[in-house]
Amino acid sequence: MTFRNVRDVPTILRTPVSDNDTMRGLDMAKIVMKTPLVEMDGDEMTRIIWKMIKDNLLLPYIDLKTEYYDLGLRKRDETDDQITIEAAEATKKYGVAVKCATITPNADRVKEYDLKAMYKSPNGTIRAALDGTVFRAPILVKGIEPYVRTWKKPIIMARHAYGDVYKNVEHRVDGPGKAELVFTDQEGAETRKVIHEFKGPGIIQGLHNLDDSIEGFARSCFNYALDQKIDLWFSTKDTISKIYDGEFRSIFEKIYENEYKEKFDAAGLEFFYTLIDDAVARVIRSEGGFLWALKNYDGDVMSDMMATSFGSLAMMTSVLVSPDGIYEFEAAHGTVQRHYYKHLKGETTSTNSVATIFAWTGALRKRGELDGIDELVSFADKLEAATLETIESGKMTGDLALITTLDNVEKLDTEAFILAIRETLEKKLGA
Ligand code: NAP
Ligand code: MG
Repeated sequence: MTFRNVRDVPTILRTPVSDNDTMRGLDMAKIVMKTPLVEMDGDEMTRIIWKMIKDNLLLPYIDLKTEYYDLGLRKRDETDDQITIEAAEATKKYGVAVKCATITPNADRVKEYDLKAMYKSPNGTIRAALDGTVFRAPILVKGIEPYVRTWKKPIIMARHAYGDVYKNVEHRVDGPGKAELVFTDQEGAETRKVIHEFKGPGIIQGLHNLDDSIEGFARSCFNYALDQKIDLWFSTKDTISKIYDGEFRSIFEKIYENEYKEKFDAAGLEFFYTLIDDAVARVIRSEGGFLWALKNYDGDVMSDMMATSFGSLAMMTSVLVSPDGIYEFEAAHGTVQRHYYKHLKGETTSTNSVATIFAWTGALRKRGELDGIDELVSFADKLEAATLETIESGKMTGDLALITTLDNVEKLDTEAFILAIRETLEKKLGA
């Protein structure tokens, strides 16, 4: 059975599934959960997809336990953004959250939603509360080929999210003079270093970072690598920036030796430091399959390059991991506003739900691991496999249809794609 369009889908598949009406038959028990997931709903097209995923791919099979927080912009406005803080607190309490994409308001959004204030980015608020690091991983599927031929496995990026050029102080020098770096300690003692004796106009900037923040970043990376059973690469430019980048390197090495070396050895994993120039060359020649940790700017630039090199932003997952092992899963893309406006006008959309499905499977798998529910872990594996097999069979959304190397491609609309995944999943579950 293939569905080109939602209108071709049999009604039984289209109707939202109620508690006792599943495709697996009435006697098939649903998977029982122990601890609730923190569920953060969101905005626009991803909010529409969120419900479709729950109704079609989760609720028929799992006795889904969630603590629901509506981070949709209207609710954030109604609660003066208190709901975001509550969701972050709940994440700390339970340990695992799944988040839908949300609007970060700008001036246009303040007008569009008649907001009381231009609220901060929910992701920023949650990151600040959890003190986490963001990891981004591409979802690989046959038919969507990475631009780099040697890459067989995902390369996961970890970007430090504090300081450096993102918190810089800049100064334009108009003419001759001396620029100095001055540090005044609490007793008032000054340390001075000459930056440059200017003979004419130029520019200066001051950067900083904090040992605490770098240590948290390092621990998040070591924990994530152990969790995913992959090697960790870290690279900076410490040959040139001996003190600044040298500090990043020595913090990573110290924490590794003191806290993680034994665990890495036991798991057969490697922590590998190399100069960023060398790392870039090795990454391109590699097969993939490792975590690449980078400073803030390097991570910003490189993760955009990696997302494109692997194929598509709609096939990129994102997880925030705190140094003490709290997880928040989401898609790397936004609320897909352009598609949402089409949807509102009643036009057919073909929005890719893969990254949002993988946010759910990531969270369910983690919850299953923590609570010792093998069935939940296995369900997450099967749903991911069903998603990939559906695409590999040629059924995909428009964004992938444009770049695939497969022949016989069927471009499906938003809902028909989710229903096609459900059909593959049903077969896997042996119904
Ligand atoms: P976006 O949602 O990432 O979408 C940008 C474009 O990328 C889309 O118009 C679409 O291209 C393509 N695209 C992204 N995801 C796709 C998917 N799942 N399926 C198919 N195509 C996809 O960015 P935006 O539209 O510029 O931003 C909308 C809102 O998202 C903003 O208000 C922003 O604040 C928010 N945002 C939230 C998060 C988050 O919560 N994590 C992250 C980023 C942005 P075509 O139009 O060419 O089809
Ligand atoms: Mg960027």
